[in-house]
Amino acid sequence: MRQPSDELAELDERGLRRNLSLRSEALIDFASNDYLGLANHPRLAQAAVSAIETYGVGSRSARLISGTHAPHRELEEKLAEAKNTQASLVFSTGYATALGTLTALAQKGDTLILDKLCHASLIDGARLSGATLRVYPHNHLEKLERLLKAHPPTQNSRTIVVTESIFSMDGDRAQLLDIIELKEKYGAWLLLDEAHAFGLYGKTGTGLAEELHVRDRVDLHMGTLSKAAGVSGGYLAANRDTIDLVLNTARSFIYSTAPLPAQAAAACSALDLIRSAEGEALRKRLAHNIEHFSQLIGSHQDSAIHPVIIGDNHAALARAEELKEQGFSVPAIRYPTVPKLTARLRISLSAGHKTDDIELLGRAIATFQKESPD
Ligand SMILES: *Cc1c(COP(=O)(O)O)cnc(C)c1O
Repeated sequence: MRQPSDELAELDERGLRRNLSLRSEALIDFASNDYLGLANHPRLAQAAVSAIETYGVGSRSARLISGTHAPHRELEEKLAEAKNTQASLVFSTGYATALGTLTALAQKGDTLILDKLCHASLIDGARLSGATLRVYPHNHLEKLERLLKAHPPTQNSRTIVVTESIFSMDGDRAQLLDIIELKEKYGAWLLLDEAHAFGLYGKTGTGLAEELHVRDRVDLHMGTLSKAAGVSGGYLAANRDTIDLVLNTARSFIYSTAPLPAQAAAACSALDLIRSAEGEALRKRLAHNIEHFSQLIGSHQDSAIHPVIIGDNHAALARAEELKEQGFSVPAIRYPTVPKLTARLRISLSAGHKTDDIELLGRAIATFQKESPD
């Protein structure tokens, strides 16, 4: 029998072994996706506490049985309004949303066309769906067009282009306007995963589609409430029929207990905050922090995600360890989360960071860059 210890030893050797370390409040956190600092916002916490007092802790059953509580419905109404769609559906996680949505909407005979850098949840959902899976190199629109031309939808089949809006490990943008032109030209749909954009882009913070004024041209709006929204859970927003079909067929939705009512209540509070003047002020603060940090390390990045590419896995781990000794929590991201030989430090900035902390980390990173200029 193959022994787990042998496989672990091989991971160790390749610098690919992962370990759970306890979150330390003593370290300055540049690892979280809590871009607006909402994860410990008192209003969200209070919303969760009130919901526990009203509904109890557990949600008791799946959404379609008796698990749908008032906060779930309220959150779905708010999300649909925010996204300007007819309806929305909330899942326990973004991962479950991707898996459920893609398997519900695509099957054998359909085609899913993904950007090469799409998140694992989208890849897993696409594989599980049984649809033909085609991948285009990151942001390579000519290749995307060739794939659309080769796999157009028919009377009885679907073709869906799948992309993130802000890419999770590079922080760069999809060329959304061009992608929308293309999917419309060939009659395909677009699933846009706004995981790292929800809360951060657009006047009311609902994502990059809002910033570019193309919300109504996106067929399937997906995202998570676990990053800038500071809570947990995933959402799909689309037209009524699509949402009804997904809630009838998405197995990760149907066969899983509903998210905690307190989770939905805290997410409602997060969404209200994101769309308010306070949300706008936090986005301004984050933009200020991004600009400051970019200047310090000489990058032109305009998102909260700053990758510092190291290349080798062991070297990336060593750099992360050095930063830890200096008091910073910054993760080393390795294969298969990112392509081989592109191991990196992934620094995520937040509206909650203090100027001093940004300066200290910026100087530490600039020192690395001087030591190994490429
Ligand atoms: C984090 C992430 C998800 C998964 O969301 P969770 O709520 O953490 O399960 C999905 N897609 C992308 C692009 C992500 O970055």
